[in-house]
Amino acid sequence: MIAIAKPYLTDAEAQAAYDTILTGWVTQGPRVEEFEKKFALYAGAKYAVAVSNCTTALHLAMIVAGIGEGDEVLCPSLSYIATANAVRYVGAKPIFVDVEYDTYNIDPIDAEKKITPKTKAILIVHQMGMPANINAFRILCDKYKLKLIEDAACAAGSSYKGDRIGANSSLVCFSFHPRKVITTGEGGMITTDREDYYQRLKLLRQHGMSVNDRVRHEAKDLIFEDHVEVGYNYRMTDIQAAVGIKQLEKLDWIVDERRKIAASYNKAFKNVPFIQLPIEKKGCFSNYQSYCIYLKDGCPIDRNTLMQGLLDCGIATRRGIMTSHRETAYKDQPTNATLPVSESLQDNSIILPLYIPMQVRDIQFVIDAFLGMVHKKLQEVLV
Ligand SMILES: *Cc1c(COP(=O)(O)O)cnc(C)c1O
Repeated sequence: MIAIAKPYLTDAEAQAAYDTILTGWVTQGPRVEEFEKKFALYAGAKYAVAVSNCTTALHLAMIVAGIGEGDEVLCPSLSYIATANAVRYVGAKPIFVDVEYDTYNIDPIDAEKKITPKTKAILIVHQMGMPANINAFRILCDKYKLKLIEDAACAAGSSYKGDRIGANSSLVCFSFHPRKVITTGEGGMITTDREDYYQRLKLLRQHGMSVNDRVRHEAKDLIFEDHVEVGYNYRMTDIQAAVGIKQLEKLDWIVDERRKIAASYNKAFKNVPFIQLPIEKKGCFSNYQSYCIYLKDGCPIDRNTLMQGLLDCGIATRRGIMTSHRETAYKDQPTNATLPVSESLQDNSIILPLYIPMQVRDIQFVIDAFLGMVHKKLQEVLV
């Protein structure tokens, strides 16, 4: 069976977790601080704050950006549902924007049409690791005085016009779930260039506590904490951070390897007329968190038949990215949404296996099985 994805974890990560457990300090502590410093340096950000996952990162980003009851936040529907949910956690309303058919990323032209006096922020997503058009959104946000927030859950190691994702705006949220390119089991990170955001994020992830456990532990004099606002327990553990530090050391290598596999797929499929390959626009560099292709009009075989056929050959695939507005949890939301591109991408795209290390013969097996099914169907249609 060829899996859709696998985390790349080795003895180094296991040893780091083991060593951390034996220090006796297992919750947020020195390893978390080290991971934050190294991640900020890697991403080219001033500060980084580690949290329990990217969903909690997005929730805190909404709070520090000042989003609340009655506000509107523009975001894509074509995303993992955590994107839109984060907007709803603070009582605001996600206003769904359609995506560009060739990048799966939020469309700046449709976004501008949906700005109202209630709009407070634009939450862009770098879908499957492909950078969104950050410059266009920066211009929009400046023009209409909106906050720009990046859901970079999938985009650690991607870059935009030479800058790593994380360096480009004041609130960038990452995930270290095993489906992303590096993992801590569960885990998240927020990068920021603003000292005030940095301080508030650190408070909010730890119950609003004015003094963190580590400072209290190391203090020579008595200190008592105050809880200065209602916060959360969104901490990462030191065990996770120790694993994250090892993963981060490999990130550039992992991205290189993933890009080689994506290039093999691109080469194999580039002459098939009804397949749309992933497109890296000028200045965009993807970590290929997922390799997704879109079956255009004229494709002789429908997506689900193809997925079943591949599964019968022992190849796991996934449907393309979901649309949030068609989920039950969003049925009661007023539908402002006509999102034809998002719906077509969800219904006609397919994610192929991509993980490290993926053997050359396995890559070739996927390619042959895929092309074999398409060609067989094509023959039937022609006859
Ligand atoms: C995975 C993902 C999330 C959620 O990340 P978690 O760390 O699992 O909370 C949010 N947004 C997008 C776009 C994702 O792909």
